[in-house]
Order: sequence, then structure tokens, then C-alpha cells
Amino acid sequence: MNLGEFAIFTGSFVILIFWLGQSLWIYLDARNRNERFALGWAILALFSVPVSLIVYLMVTRGREEKCKVCGTYLERGLTICTNCGKDVGKICTGCGNIMKESWNYCPKCKTKYRDN
Ligand SMILES: [Zn+2]
Ligand SMILES: [Zn+2]
Repeated sequence: MNLGEFAIFTGSFVILIFWLGQSLWIYLDARNRNERFALGWAILALFSVPVSLIVYLMVTRGREEKCKVCGTYLERGLTICTNCGKDVGKICTGCGNIMKESWNYCPKCKTKYRDN
């Protein structure tokens, strides 16, 4: 084996590791988050490196927030953690709108937020 062949061999080996590694990582990550299509994501990842990784991260990270108590990833818009039952958001006392932690007034109905 000459140097050129060795470089090609090593190069393709590294690419293979990245390729399978990405797929495996996505699969494990998706399973960890109880993603319904964990295997689907992993298969998708085999076909488009690294686009699927970027898409995967945007999709899963974009629509989730983390429970401050137990660290479970939750879909956006939930008001309690589905794992530990703790409150993860505030609900407007006037109209039931889901509010950000930092908001004192509801932008929809202008009610001042009160802890109950
Ligand atoms: Zn929790
Ligand atoms: Zn409101």
C-alpha cells in the first residue's frame, strides 16, 4: 500500500465513522427523548450528512423546553412536566394564555399575573 492508497483508506474510514456515528447519535438522542420516529431519524441521517443532523437538531430543540426540576424535555406549550408534575410555565389568570416566566402581564387580555 502506497501513501496515496493509505490516505484514501484512512479518509474513507474517518468518513464512515462520522457517517455511522451521526446516525447512531441521532438514534440514541431521539430514543432518549421518547421521539416517536427515532429509527426514522436515524435512517434519514444515513442519506444526508450532515444536513439531517442540522434539521434534526432544529426540529427537536426548537419545539421543546426542559423541566427545571427533573430535566425532562417537554413539548412547548405544556404547563406541567409530564414526568414529575411540576409547573413549567405560567398560565394567565384571566384568559388561560400560556405566558413566559418573565411576563407580568398577559399580552392577550392585559390581566396582571397573580400566583394562586
Ligand atoms: Zn419534571
Ligand atoms: Zn390573558
